[in-house]
Amino acid sequence: MRVELLTVGDELLLGDTVNGNAAWLGRRLADHGVDVTRSVVVGDELDVIVEAVRAALGRADAVITTGGLGPTYDDLTRDALARAAGVGLVRDAGLERRLRERVARAGRELRPMALRMADVPEGARILRNSAGSAPGLRVELPGGIVYALPGVPFEMRTITDEVVLPELKEIAGLPAVARRTLRTARMWESVVASRLAEVEAMDGVRLAYLPDPAEVKVRITVAGPDAAGRLADVEARVRELLGDAVYGAEDESLDRVVHRLLAERSATVATAESLTGGLIGAELTAMPGSSATFAGGLVTYATDAKRSMLGVPADLLEEHGAVHPDVAAAMAAGARDALGATYGLAVTGVAGPEPQDGREVGTVYVGVAGPGKSPIVAAPRLPVPGAGPETRTVIRRMTVVHALELLRR
Ligand code: ATP
Ligand code: MG
Repeated sequence: MRVELLTVGDELLLGDTVNGNAAWLGRRLADHGVDVTRSVVVGDELDVIVEAVRAALGRADAVITTGGLGPTYDDLTRDALARAAGVGLVRDAGLERRLRERVARAGRELRPMALRMADVPEGARILRNSAGSAPGLRVELPGGIVYALPGVPFEMRTITDEVVLPELKEIAGLPAVARRTLRTARMWESVVASRLAEVEAMDGVRLAYLPDPAEVKVRITVAGPDAAGRLADVEARVRELLGDAVYGAEDESLDRVVHRLLAERSATVATAESLTGGLIGAELTAMPGSSATFAGGLVTYATDAKRSMLGVPADLLEEHGAVHPDVAAAMAAGARDALGATYGLAVTGVAGPEPQDGREVGTVYVGVAGPGKSPIVAAPRLPVPGAGPETRTVIRRMTVVHALELLRR
């Protein structure tokens, strides 16, 4: 079973929109064992789309297109499919009724152009989805099947998961698969991968690494008989090999884990941030209910603010500058005390792109002050990815992750 992707839209060619649909589809299909053999991008031009569909079906068994199903005159996918199939467009009564209802509910008038969305190539099947959003189309051509999906990513994904994937898997006679994503922090992608070499070698097991600054998600896919049962064993082994670097699974993000751990102990945290300028506070307040565990934060950016707002000793700052482990420790204790929290969490460092006080870009100290103990300080080694404008963004993001990680442990 060979599948090709055809993503349609001038904005993709011009680079105004990043082709996330092709990326997502490629990964999703691979995860389910469906071979994607080619991915093509074309603009909003009828002849070009027709030609691309025909060429793709000359090579593959099925083509998935995205985009060009909307109501405007640059949405040409349905016309192209009709032309490729050598049939006309017919108005679908059900689609028309739904369109009219939707427009009426919104208290608007139906514009003739919008009715285009009810036109389908003769013989096409309409692919509805549970989200109730724009439908896709399935058209059978002499060379194979075309699944035409809307360009809007959420709609495209819903129809893929609910309709396209199950059908493709049935056609291809693919076995059941089970999947699980584990989330790790602090460990380089290459380290994660080398620790998991033995898992990678297991029959019917596939691993995918999805890296983010300072985080790596490991997606485990197990295919074959009793996929779900085997997945549990494989997951246990992966957790063993990665140890404490695994902080959560699926969509349990680091801030959620930290919130949960604090809530379990009825504890709170206060932050003192320098180079992150409030990003840690933003992260710790992202989820509803965070007021139970986040006391507040101080952004002490200037060196003197660390003294005046947090009580970091002036001689310490004078002797070492603001980027020093003892400063991180004093900031953490200062934040904890200033806000009466259980824990104080502090970061100080050099985000770049230029070195500061003789310290290299990426020098970062993270401090955690617990109840009644002297603070713990970590000095993560943050890589300097070139010296471009992204350096700052990446280092600040990595600092957030390392700070939350230190608190978690
Ligand atoms: P609808 O039927 O909902 O109007 P459509 O099929 O007409 O959608 P487009 O108009 O081509 O789709 O795209 C709608 C939006 O979806 C675009 O503005 C863009 O943001 C997004 N989009 C389209 N194609 C892609 C793609 N390949 N990758 C990521 N996003 C995309
Ligand atoms: Mg459109």
